[in-house]
Amino acid sequence: MRFEVTILGNGSASPAADKHQTAHVLNVREQFYLIDCGEGTRSRLLRVGVSPLKIRAVFISHIHGDHIYGLVPLISSLGLAGKQTPLKIFGPGAVGRMLDFFQNEFGQPVDFELDFTPVDTTAHRLVYENRSMEVWSVPLRHRTPTTGYHFVEKPDPHNHPTRSYAYLSDTLPSPKAAGLVRGVDLMYHEATFAHTDRRLARDTGHSTATEAARIALKAGAGELIIGHFSSRYKNLALLEDEARAVFPNTRVAAEGATFSVPLKKADPGL
Ligand SMILES: [Zn+2]
Ligand SMILES: [Zn+2]
Repeated sequence: MRFEVTILGNGSASPAADKHQTAHVLNVREQFYLIDCGEGTRSRLLRVGVSPLKIRAVFISHIHGDHIYGLVPLISSLGLAGKQTPLKIFGPGAVGRMLDFFQNEFGQPVDFELDFTPVDTTAHRLVYENRSMEVWSVPLRHRTPTTGYHFVEKPDPHNHPTRSYAYLSDTLPSPKAAGLVRGVDLMYHEATFAHTDRRLARDTGHSTATEAARIALKAGAGELIIGHFSSRYKNLALLEDEARAVFPNTRVAAEGATFSVPLKKADPGL
């Protein structure tokens, strides 16, 4: 009964020799979901041992390149691998227009359906659900329409308390978003900059490690993962220490690392 996130890339837009662009895989009870899809995501999936064919749905936060440059290559690979079933993709409307361009103009459209659903980046809505999970949009504050996602497990037959993961990137610190994911078990929050560079964060629509930690504190999160680091930081422990001073249960989103939310004890009262 797993509920865990594996980090494929922890970098941001500027290229870095030691970082890949943003992408995460969420495993909910052996069902796999891709969250953002930066350049190189398909090879990163293979590196962590997740077949792209296993991906049930893709959730894109916004159309900046470091979150979508891996999507077309991933779709092409799925076509080569013989995928027949539709691929569900969620994201701001611009992502749908990019997919249309790919299907109509590249000359080699894939045979399976790209089942795109636009997400209203200004609203907190249920965007997807199946038997084991609900996914809610979380409006964020960035330079282009951007949504976070709140993944919430549904109750199982044994009445274990449900588990949850919030993905908040890219964004200025948003107390409103913290309120929408209140009590989340595992929160990913971007921490593109150190707090000494907070003016840069403000000007580019990003957060510092300190600000990410404040949002985790405000949300009453169980654990915080920070990522989406600027290439200027070689020593990520500095950012981790900065966040821990505010929110002690913080960890750096190391590439290839998996963060699990353990199954909680069933409520004996139920
Ligand atoms: Zn970004
Ligand atoms: Zn961005």
